[in-house]
Amino acid sequence: MFIDKARILLKAGRGGDGAVSFHREKYVANGGPDGGDGGDGGSIYLVADDHLSTLTDYKYRRKYEADSGENGRGNRCRGKSADDLILKVPRGTIVREHESGKIMADISGDEPVLICKGGRGGFGNAKFATPTRQIPRFAKTGTQGESYDISLELKLIADVGFAGFPNVGKSTLLSVISNARPKIANYHFTTLTPNLGVVRVGDTSFVAADIPGLIEGASKGIGLGHDFLRHIERCRLIVHVVDVSGSEGRDPVEDFEQINRELSEFSEELGSRRQIVVGNKIDIADSDMREYFASYAKEHDLDYMEISAATTDGTRELVNHCAEILADMPPVKVYEPDFVKPERGGRNRDFEINRDDDNDEWVIEAPWLERILMQSNVDDYESLMYFQNALADSGILDRLVELEVQEGDTIRIGDYQFDYIT
Ligand code: GDP
Ligand code: MG
Repeated sequence: MFIDKARILLKAGRGGDGAVSFHREKYVANGGPDGGDGGDGGSIYLVADDHLSTLTDYKYRRKYEADSGENGRGNRCRGKSADDLILKVPRGTIVREHESGKIMADISGDEPVLICKGGRGGFGNAKFATPTRQIPRFAKTGTQGESYDISLELKLIADVGFAGFPNVGKSTLLSVISNARPKIANYHFTTLTPNLGVVRVGDTSFVAADIPGLIEGASKGIGLGHDFLRHIERCRLIVHVVDVSGSEGRDPVEDFEQINRELSEFSEELGSRRQIVVGNKIDIADSDMREYFASYAKEHDLDYMEISAATTDGTRELVNHCAEILADMPPVKVYEPDFVKPERGGRNRDFEINRDDDNDEWVIEAPWLERILMQSNVDDYESLMYFQNALADSGILDRLVELEVQEGDTIRIGDYQFDYIT
């Protein structure tokens, strides 16, 4: 069940280019290569933000682009990497690759999720100096960042939503049954955004949400009403809280019916959502007031319980009852990603080996290998190992042996030369 959708385009930043530069200093002739690497492009992450309840922002703005990395400069100066772009979405937003409809992520946890990886900065020519190639006149350009056309979908998130007029004690209730610490105050509209809390019951748990207070006319979109209803719509079970003490000078029966009317007006489905009705503040309610609402509940066959959130009287029973009902309902699903990012440049590992007798060298034609080489830092053990593994995996080494390559022979791959050493 999804309540909101949006489609946006994301483009991560490109990596900066590596620089070609040579060291210059007074009285120092023939300085070595000192071109710095390009900085990395910014990546795009999505993160859950509980202050957001809809995807509205993403309907007004459709394109999001992270900055590119800076180019490298001389004197081995690395270009600055761009900042990542972190987009906030409501918790429970599902990210799909638009065209395939496959799921890239479910933004339900607390950690930002990487959606578009920024391009890598290219190596400057300082990285390409080797004993056999002292004057590298090339550097590597940065790679493109990933870009995706994605759909965002907001799914049902809390198991239990608290409905009720302001000040009936919803936030107090959430704070005593869960790990949430919502603001509690004796004035209306304290809760502007839902507070989510995890309620533990034995070795299971459920998520409860304390939702912005309903005001009259909420279903007509006045004030905070619509946001409130959207949140409630996403809950499997409603705990409808009334203040049976009349401490606010209100009539609990009228309040109860008013809220139900608002729910039904918003959607029929919401009006018929399963409810547990909770009479709160029994610690300060006199017996007449308690009896007044209790008999109404009985008459209307409500699933009714009395509690005091302040003293926690009856709250354990309420939690157990919620858990019982939820156990018979389908769970809130966390979606597993099934989208696989395509490998860049494909997996084609073809090669051709030719003998160049004029230059006394073996020439390997394999553009993909050149790309790996260009992105490798030949001074760096790990990237050299990566390169050697690629060489072995592709079958190039076996083929060279078949061709009777000799120890000390020169091997050329694009601009690079190596000695064959076993
Ligand atoms: P909400 O607007 O529904 O979230 O209500 P709050 O949880 O913010 O509570 C409103 C006021 O009622 C606060 O002053 C609470 O301390 C008080 N309150 C909440 N539950 C109880 C209760 O069970 N007994 C008493 N005496 N006061 C309560
Ligand atoms: Mg509150």
